[in-house]
Amino acid sequence: MTCYLNGRFLPIEEASIPVLDRGFIYGDGVYEVIPVYDREPFHLDRHLARLARSLASVRIANPYDVAAWESLIRTLIGHHDDAGQSIYLQVTRGVAKRDHAFPKDTPPTVFMMSNPLVTPSPALVASGVAAVTATDNRWFRCDVKSTSLLANVLLRQFAVDHGGAEAVLLRDGFLTEGSSSNIFVVRDGIVATPSRSHLMLTGVTLDVVADIAVDAGIPFEMRDVHESEVRSADELWLASSTREVLAITTLDGRPVGNGVPGPMFHRLYRLFQDHKRKCLP
Ligand code: PMP
Repeated sequence: MTCYLNGRFLPIEEASIPVLDRGFIYGDGVYEVIPVYDREPFHLDRHLARLARSLASVRIANPYDVAAWESLIRTLIGHHDDAGQSIYLQVTRGVAKRDHAFPKDTPPTVFMMSNPLVTPSPALVASGVAAVTATDNRWFRCDVKSTSLLANVLLRQFAVDHGGAEAVLLRDGFLTEGSSSNIFVVRDGIVATPSRSHLMLTGVTLDVVADIAVDAGIPFEMRDVHESEVRSADELWLASSTREVLAITTLDGRPVGNGVPGPMFHRLYRLFQDHKRKCLP
């Protein structure tokens, strides 16, 4: 596997960073995960725009412009045979003597790798997944796609420990998102998801699903979603770059709706697959 590190493409086994990298010491960095279908990055412009927003939020200078990022990402894709890939990239504040305050004139560390893209199997799409609710105990900048993911890691493990594939996070009685996904609630034929805020990541998949729903005339709302709506939903979905759109069919061990992926999910899932094909050159 070939990766990219600070200006060079090299085998991943040969890539190393100094232990004083602030990504290692503090989780002081941001990242992106970009799905690649048929060798074509999916909504690359949206991922690079979010990367630029994350970098600006944490005051790391963007090391490349959009054209340079695109060229590096396409080169990395070219180093791998898989038609479907998952590009992971991260930028950290670089290597410096340990001190919380920003170092001066330290170049960022830029790392990228590609893994085969594993999207949910047809069986999983047909069955849906189990999820559990958890208290969202993260910080107030969840809009930043930060590599400081300890809270998300613990929340996901909580879900796994309770037989779930995802934790559905609730803060002060309202839905925020999943530990690594955005969440949609369907009630009475209306799809609702929380409005963008600093309490959640604006998922690229979320935005794509929103566009698809609106274009198809599916009633769609971005607004505060109360915990009671989550617990009484006809359908629940999760969405992310690698899991695409998946139905959540049990929540805290109780069936969501009829306990199987619902009609709105099937419709949206088909539209999402059509949209993927339309995005190919
Ligand atoms: N929320 C969180 C906390 C995430 O980690 C992710 C996936 N990285 C998402 C939402 C979904 O974002 P995207 O659709 O861009 O993958």
